[in-house]
Amino acid sequence: MKVLKFGGTSIKDADRIRNVLSIIGRTAQESDIIVVVSAIRKVTDLLLDAAVTASKGDAGYSKRLSEIETLHRGLVEDLITADGRKEVEEYLRKELNELGDVLHGVSLLRELSDKSRALIMSFGERFSALIISSYLRQEGLEASYADARNMIVTDTNHCDARVDMKASAKRIKAWFKEAKGIQVVTGYIGTAPDGTTTTLGRGGSDYSATIIGSALGADEIQVWTDVDGFFSADPKRVRDAYVIPFISYGEAMELSHSGAKVLHPYSVHPAMKSGIPITIRNSYNPDAEGTHIGGADKNDERAERPVTGLSSINNVVLLTLSGSGMIGVPGIASRLFSCLARHMINIIFISQASSEQSISLVVNLAQAEKARRVLEEEFSPEITARQVESLAVRKRIAIIAVVGNNMSGHPGVSAHLFETLGKNGINVIAVAQGANEMNISFVIDNQDEDKALNCIHESFFLSRRKVHVFIAGTGTIAKSLMGQIRDHSLTLRKEMNLDVVVSGMANTRMKVFRNDGIDLDTWENALEPRDDGKTIGDYVAGIKARNLHNTIFVDCTASGDVAESYPDLLASNISVVTANKLGMAGSWKLFETIRSAQQSSNARFLYETNVGAGLPIINTLNDLKNSGDRIIRIEGVLSGTLSYIFNELRKGGKFSEIVRKARAAGYTEPDPREDLSGADFARKFLILGRELGYRLNYEDIDCESLVPENLRGEMSVEAFLEELGSVDSDYEARISKAAERDMTIAYTGEISEGKARISVNMLPVSNPVAGLNGTENMVVFTTDRYLDTPLVVKGPGAGGEVTAGGVFADILRIAGYLV
Ligand code: ADP
Ligand code: ASP
Ligand code: MG
Repeated sequence: MKVLKFGGTSIKDADRIRNVLSIIGRTAQESDIIVVVSAIRKVTDLLLDAAVTASKGDAGYSKRLSEIETLHRGLVEDLITADGRKEVEEYLRKELNELGDVLHGVSLLRELSDKSRALIMSFGERFSALIISSYLRQEGLEASYADARNMIVTDTNHCDARVDMKASAKRIKAWFKEAKGIQVVTGYIGTAPDGTTTTLGRGGSDYSATIIGSALGADEIQVWTDVDGFFSADPKRVRDAYVIPFISYGEAMELSHSGAKVLHPYSVHPAMKSGIPITIRNSYNPDAEGTHIGGADKNDERAERPVTGLSSINNVVLLTLSGSGMIGVPGIASRLFSCLARHMINIIFISQASSEQSISLVVNLAQAEKARRVLEEEFSPEITARQVESLAVRKRIAIIAVVGNNMSGHPGVSAHLFETLGKNGINVIAVAQGANEMNISFVIDNQDEDKALNCIHESFFLSRRKVHVFIAGTGTIAKSLMGQIRDHSLTLRKEMNLDVVVSGMANTRMKVFRNDGIDLDTWENALEPRDDGKTIGDYVAGIKARNLHNTIFVDCTASGDVAESYPDLLASNISVVTANKLGMAGSWKLFETIRSAQQSSNARFLYETNVGAGLPIINTLNDLKNSGDRIIRIEGVLSGTLSYIFNELRKGGKFSEIVRKARAAGYTEPDPREDLSGADFARKFLILGRELGYRLNYEDIDCESLVPENLRGEMSVEAFLEELGSVDSDYEARISKAAERDMTIAYTGEISEGKARISVNMLPVSNPVAGLNGTENMVVFTTDRYLDTPLVVKGPGAGGEVTAGGVFADILRIAGYLV
């Protein structure tokens, strides 16, 4: 014999009820069955709403009532043919009248007791079981309506009643002894000893099914719902959650008590006691295997995995009683819990540190105010005597539970869990782990709930990990970066098990957000005109609001405003990768703010491409420093444009013509004076100097401008290039003079002893700088270890592709840290 329970979504309309018929029909061919049904979807909510409205004396409840009526009458019309319809309609009318009377009574009294509330809410299941039993009968099955109030006996806690298992079992057996054919039983409802109607708490139809199944020793209890089974986490919150094929009673119990709504928390216990398997099946996909809930011994194929599933409860309230007067005083905890028990307040979570200075507990929002009041009363002598501080109340929190049989004796689970949370900047407010080691629960802020679920889920269950990238800028570097991420994504998946998901992109006019990733081929079309204030602050606010796990902000702009946002991003535990120099080469104040934000953040900040684009300069420098080498001097050429000009000059050519040629080839800024001033070069040296620990500002870099002094006033680019010819002979003369001594000239920088200088220098032709080609950059590190033969890094120091490559490498470095 099997018990088949159908939830509200499985019978939400006539089509779904027809679908249920086919499931019932098929199963009834193989075994005896009992059907338990919930109310039609949303009906219980409508009933509750009607009750509350009526209790305010608001006649609006009748609108709800007629909604309920229309819904059920519609079902009857749709499902039941003319022959049987009259009888069902007659019965339905009687029930609706009764409901109308009760609501009317409530509205007159303006009082909604739990007793009335439970009675009102019981109608949903009464309607649905009535209609479905008639429909099954019409379709040729021998089925009849069974009111569970004849079977399930409870206490008088009307809205969340405890079941008297013994008395219920007796009545259930008696009922089924007499019953013939398929009984369609109302879920969710029961009777108190005084004959009043009770309910088993929201979602209680699952419980009804297991109570009946276990009383009758069923072979299986099937819970038919709208998802493929018991998932590793709520599939509505965690996209990558998957169906758990087998889960033990204990695990299912822990998970459902901690918020996994797929099963009512109490429903596992009766089945477990009688050793009856529960299966969770999808009525929308009846061919799916579903989840099998049974004894832990069948668990061995998953023995490797310590954690089975995650669940969460949100919008609950944390109460903390603390004070030095609690230390070593026996009976405090006992008074606390007895007081709450006396007032029927349910505690969801408890945590006490061994210092005994404080006890934290979590209760439902609906009971929080009452809990606060009664506890303050209980402890008022201690509060007055200042032995206990008044009770701290923290609202809008969530509890996450991490559950698994195999956690026990599996070291490292907590470490891994809290590391993952820490890296994502999720603050853990309180923690509790039972000594059975099956459940680690912790309290966090409500707003971090989804982020926490997703990052924990990913780190415990998935081999493939994700980072969410938000890009600022849509220019050359961003374009190349998007191309590189696209071209490399398959390899990343295969070799690093990593998905780089670009979840946002913006410039000053356009933006796009897609949590699951912007299409890397068509992203340009996805950009939409911005409807916010069009500032970087607005974009950052959008990123923060998404609160995704493993988030990296990537700055592909050259904007000072964007650089100003790094401290805020880091403070929000969002890692930053930047190709924009205006942060690290910005004012000393900005630099310091970024550094300190970085130190206090769990997020990372990388800017390798600030100096020499994709060349490994900052990393090399840090590796040297961190491994204990002493850097004596850094020299080099860190401007592609100026490198080109001097490399050409050495081959023989006129300075002004070379500048024109460089400009035509796109090696200079549109206004070549910007390059010739050495400003960009100086910023890179400023960054290197600061990296070495020197407190330097831009003004401290002694930089020789190659814009002749007499040409520094206002003039057009053309006019400037025209006039620049005046220095040609000077450069020619310097080169030939140097050549006489086997030397040449180059525009180079040097940092040593806290001083940075950039100028045109004479150097031996054997110097590696003299051998540079095209726009190549070069940095020469002279250190204690690299003294006679300095360490040289050389290569192209600019360009969209190489810069994007460096940015990409920084993203992957952070991904490596995060996952
Ligand atoms: P029914 O109406 O069938 O009783 P419920 O809405 O009570 O359905 O329960 C099913 C819902 O439970 C799913 O749609 C899903 O969103 C939610 N849920 C929460 N946690 C889990 C989980 N771990 N596995 C499956 N579903 C879950
Ligand atoms: N109809 C009830 C509710 O909505 C019981 C159930 O669906 O299991 O809570
Ligand atoms: Mg349910």
